[in-house]
Amino acid sequence: MIPFLDLKKINLSYADEMQQALKRVLDSGWFVLGKEVDLFEKEFASYCGADHAIGVANGLDAIFLILKAYGVGPGDEVIVPSNTYIATWLAATQCGAVPVPVEPDAMTYNIDPAKIESAITSRTKAIIAVHLYGQAADMDPINDVARRFGIKVIEDCAQAHGARYKGRRVGSLGDSAAFSFYPGKNLGALGDGGAVTTDDSQLAESLRALRNYGSKVKYHNEFLGFNSRLDELQAAFLRVKLGKLDSENSRRQEIARVYSAGLSELANLVLPDSPEWAEPVWHLYVIRHAKRDQLAQKLNAAGIGTVIHYPVPPHLQPCYGSMNLCEGSFPISESMHNQVLSIPMGPTMTDEDANRVVDIIHGVVDGL
Ligand SMILES: *Cc1c(COP(=O)(O)O)cnc(C)c1O
Repeated sequence: MIPFLDLKKINLSYADEMQQALKRVLDSGWFVLGKEVDLFEKEFASYCGADHAIGVANGLDAIFLILKAYGVGPGDEVIVPSNTYIATWLAATQCGAVPVPVEPDAMTYNIDPAKIESAITSRTKAIIAVHLYGQAADMDPINDVARRFGIKVIEDCAQAHGARYKGRRVGSLGDSAAFSFYPGKNLGALGDGGAVTTDDSQLAESLRALRNYGSKVKYHNEFLGFNSRLDELQAAFLRVKLGKLDSENSRRQEIARVYSAGLSELANLVLPDSPEWAEPVWHLYVIRHAKRDQLAQKLNAAGIGTVIHYPVPPHLQPCYGSMNLCEGSFPISESMHNQVLSIPMGPTMTDEDANRVVDIIHGVVDGL
């Protein structure tokens, strides 16, 4: 059995350092917004090549609080990819703004920069570029169009901690960036967590207040704020894992190389495509097949774990029914959702595991 993701094994490999981190926090007697969060913010900002990092409660809040800090609200529009995890859309909706979907490039799965301009209106306040599956979106043309129209660019880095675009890390490529530290992400806590990175000092200051009841000085509330803070304990765990993120990402890259070499000959199977400027960190290794459900069934029967990211695009989710975006309105995205399949990927996988996955796919794909 090769699981889709072995979270237990990943975290147990840091058991000793995690125990020390727990002891440090227990001994400090300080549990919310203290030394560990402070240090993690500095270390993470420096890792991303950004001036500031602000720890928050989760990835959805990171996007939502950025939009709030920019003053996005009812009557505004936010451009989002038509194929993303629903959190990207929900952040806009939670502000009272309307998510305006733009189709992805059919090979990279990331928002197609050429399709953004026609989606911009006088109400557009921001573009959220998602670095889906661990590979950076094409940021230069996205920043260009945003600059021409005077709108903000927010990176959704929830799946791409450490990925590079033209040599630069995600989290430093737009006006601001949102990260999630949900356990299954490349940098995952032992619970929920998130962060914003930015070079914008004013935004950083607003976010530090917004995440903490709108307060800069305790019991003095300047803004209508929220409670969205990163715990000391999670920050302490994240500091342990941040030190290993590059080596974990390299291991993912090695597994991806085994897959891409081993699966390249197979007809009817579409493999992930990386432009030469991209250094993906393989949050997911996503293949595509017209008979995806049958392929998944056969792989699962042979002991290979798989997951579909994602089975239903946001515009066809019941919660967005009131937008009246019927089937066929985003055909590129819809065909991806019907065909994509994520195969096992993670830093504790061995070459043997990856080769076994390759062999089993070879064994089942011809019979489909
Ligand atoms: C996981 C994820 C989020 C949300 O992060 P949470 O910490 O679960 O709130 C947002 N966007 C994308 C693309 C994600 O994959």
